[in-house]
Amino acid sequence: MLKISAKEIAQMAEGELSKSFDCDAIIKQVFIDSRQVKENSLFVAIRGDTNDGHSYVSQVVAKSGNFAIVNADFPLELPNLIRVRDTTLALGKLAANYRKKFTIPIAAITGSNGKTTVKEMVKSICDREFGKEQVLATSGNLNNHLGLPLTILGLKQSHKVAIFEMGMNHSGELDYLSKIGHPTVAIINNVMFAHAGHFGCIEDIARAKGEIYHGLNDGGVACVDISSEYTKLWLDNDIKKCKTFVYGKEETDCYLKLIEDGVGYYVTPLGEMEVKLRVLGQHNYYNALTAIALAVNLGCSLKSIKSGLESYSGYKGRLELKNAFNGALIIDDTYNANPDSVKAALNAIQGLPRPYWFIFADLKELGIHEFEFHQEIGEYAAAANVDMFLTVGDLAAHAAKFFSRDKIHFATNQDIVKYCLTNLPKNATLLIKGSNSMHLGEVAEELSLGR
Ligand code: ATP
Ligand code: MG
Repeated sequence: MLKISAKEIAQMAEGELSKSFDCDAIIKQVFIDSRQVKENSLFVAIRGDTNDGHSYVSQVVAKSGNFAIVNADFPLELPNLIRVRDTTLALGKLAANYRKKFTIPIAAITGSNGKTTVKEMVKSICDREFGKEQVLATSGNLNNHLGLPLTILGLKQSHKVAIFEMGMNHSGELDYLSKIGHPTVAIINNVMFAHAGHFGCIEDIARAKGEIYHGLNDGGVACVDISSEYTKLWLDNDIKKCKTFVYGKEETDCYLKLIEDGVGYYVTPLGEMEVKLRVLGQHNYYNALTAIALAVNLGCSLKSIKSGLESYSGYKGRLELKNAFNGALIIDDTYNANPDSVKAALNAIQGLPRPYWFIFADLKELGIHEFEFHQEIGEYAAAANVDMFLTVGDLAAHAAKFFSRDKIHFATNQDIVKYCLTNLPKNATLLIKGSNSMHLGEVAEELSLGR
């Protein structure tokens, strides 16, 4: 972060100050986790479901040079406090104002599936184009109303480009995030049934995704996938003053022409290009197309795009290849799951060595449609030649009712591990997938270590 005076921070956050407030002090970093606070830091006290940051405020400001932003009900007795109506909104306001100090290209990515993957692909491209140290990208999955502002506050003078992932569970969230990040280029990777429990239908999800374009300013570029059935919805409602970059079909100048023998043939405004991805799954060629559309609009060359995509080797828990304890191949896709990403994963294993073993746990956040979706997964797994279906969780058990070949239901993850340690064939391909809250990551880890 740039060094900023406490006075300027107070103005940006629009708060009321303690009587004793060192206006001229310099703030170098912003935190919401008191354990990370260093010298000359601003601590924003966030009230969460289980923890309240306000409990740590006195400890933080006891060190001279540290400041805190607190909620309206917190007494202004300690020094160096900035009191606001809502600390989360103040963090957003601070980040939005801080963002205005930079004129670099900034990309915003949303979509139901593949946001982190596309963000990492674009990062890999930009690292080559601009140099690693000059690229700021969302770390991991910090894509919400806390993660995005904290990421923005990490912008430095030396950064030449920034890539922000933006996620949502409700409508209105992307409008908020996009207006904080003020991207110069924004994109929707896809619209599928993910985080869908709060939405009535897929059109509502598409409508909410369109909000990613709201923060684009006059010179900004809205990248629109014309192969999406929601293009018109976004063009009519969300894309107003900015330019558009239409891609995704042959009548445009940026699209995926063909995938053959593991090579994607792309047409781009910079010329045609063959790309051999190192990551599994046809869907990743479409993620790469999204990354290409963004990279072109961030000013990257064709050479950087090709080498950035071809060197991208995947991300933890997203179709990650691992060796099992006995030499079998594990496809660790345990980071998270929804119906479309399960189908994408089952498609991705086709052609790998049989037998196919599939460890599947419940998919959460599917609302009233959860049983239908789990039925579909059971049927899809059967059609995708799964030989052994191992399930954990009540919803996964429902999926198994619609799977006709060998199957076993387990009470716990540990029971699955125990079973696989003695029964997993050496030549098997083992796909592991379920919602993050089902903790299948530990199963993948233990089966790779053999314990
Ligand atoms: P989150 O909403 O949790 O942030 P995300 O949109 O960032 O997710 P990733 O983390 O990139 O997505 O991938 C999540 C899961 O979706 C992984 O299992 C991955 O293999 C799968 N996936 C990635 N891209 C696609 C795609 N284009 N279509 C379907 N599934 C995909
Ligand atoms: Mg993500």
